[in-house]
Parts: sequence; C-alpha cells; structure tokens
Amino acid sequence: MRKKIVAGNWKMNKTLQEGVALATELKNILAAEKPNCEVIIGTPFIHLATLSEMLKDSVIAVSAENCANKESGAYTGEVSAAMVKSTGAEYVILGHSERREYYNETPEILKEKVDLALANGLKVIFCIGESLAQREANEQEAVCKAELQGSVFHLTAEQWKNIVIAYEPIWAIGTGKTATAEQAEEIHAFIRKCVADVYGAQAADDTSILYGGSCKASNAPELFSKPDIDGGLIGGASLKAPDFKGIIDAWK
Ligand code: PEP
Repeated sequence: MRKKIVAGNWKMNKTLQEGVALATELKNILAAEKPNCEVIIGTPFIHLATLSEMLKDSVIAVSAENCANKESGAYTGEVSAAMVKSTGAEYVILGHSERREYYNETPEILKEKVDLALANGLKVIFCIGESLAQREANEQEAVCKAELQGSVFHLTAEQWKNIVIAYEPIWAIGTGKTATAEQAEEIHAFIRKCVADVYGAQAADDTSILYGGSCKASNAPELFSKPDIDGGLIGGASLKAPDFKGIIDAWK
C-alpha cells in the first residue's frame, strides 16, 4: 500500500533559530492531533542535525533538500549523502526544478546523487515536471518520462521502494497558479503507468506520487481526492505551521 505524504520544502528560508521554532510549533500541533499521513519537512542542511534529534520521537520525518554527487573529498562547500544520513535525516529531495535551473543539475548529475543517496540509506523524493512552454506545447508527458528515464529508471526494483516521485509543474511553483486537480491527475496517472512499464503494476501501485506547485489548504482536498495523487510537496505554505497543518488536514 502506498503512503499518503505531505512534505514541506523550506528552500533557503529560516535561520536555525527560526527553523527550530517552526518545527517545535508543528511538532506540538501534530502531537495534539495525529495526522492521517506521513509528514516530512525538507530543510536546509544547517537544520538537519538539530531537527532530527528534536523530532526523533515525533511523527515528523526530516529531509535534506540536496546532497552532493560525489562521495567525499575535495569539494569545498558540498555536503555528501553520508553526511546527510549522519544527521539522522531520512530523506533527500533531488531533482527540484530550482536546482536543475539555477545550479545546472543535469539528469546525469541527478542520477549520481540518487545513487549515492540510496547507497547511504536515504529515501529520495525525486522531482519532475515541465515548464510553461513545454506545457503549452503539450510536452508534459514526454518531459516527465525523460526525467524519470534520465535519473531513476536505472534503479533496481529493490531500490525503487525508496523512491517517492513529486510531480511539480514549473509554471505552478511559487506562482500561485495551481494545476487543476484534473490536469494533475492526468499526468500522475501517466507517471504511474511509466513506473508500471518499468517495475510492474504492483510496484507502481505502491509508489507515492506527490503533487507540488502552489498547493495550499484551500486546494489540497480536491487535489488529494484524485486516485493517483498521494499527497503534496509544499513550498511556500510549509513555512507557517497553521498553513502546513491545513494541508495535512486535507487527508482527514
Ligand atoms: C516547491 O518548490 O517544491 C513548491 C511546490 O513550491 P510552492 O508550494 O511554493 O509552489
């Protein structure tokens, strides 16, 4: 059975103290009212060790937002998958469109990162999604399939069990423009079919596919009601505990 998930992506927001305050607020809210889904918060590297320790007995799992495509050594400023794992974090977000666009992360680089993350015992939230121009040219399916083929479809069936897919149309990220539930469902079903073609129907059925792109408490219930949408990857609305909780409540 696939998991329902609501995952936050704080991006480059929150000092250590602000992050601790937000995580504490969320921990308390979710201790008082248990969520009906898995809850993950993706944070900058600086928060990982502190929050992993703070949240270890809570329902909240911690994720990094990136890791290096090298194992270790002379790569100044980089953080390896082994280092992320050593903080107690369980997940890493890879393939986010901002990393692809601003940091030139190619499918090959992402493939190396995915391999290292899995080899070091992390689970991967792998992001895919088309730009506005690609959507207007009706290329969304080809783009998503190519991104899967380029970085994750080489994995074994055993490795695949540690992959969560996040479909994030770039034109909907941080723009306030959400894909309609129908648009999202259509491509989620297509992505699941691509997974089935490689790993079989059961594995596809067990794969969590999240929607990301201006998801908020007001549109989450409709998005999450679709059969192939297993939750959300949330940017802006994960930065305030009540907003994030509103999305988590969409599973109630
Ligand atoms: C994201 O960047 O992963 C995202 C979904 O952002 P937002 O929710 O702000 O659109």
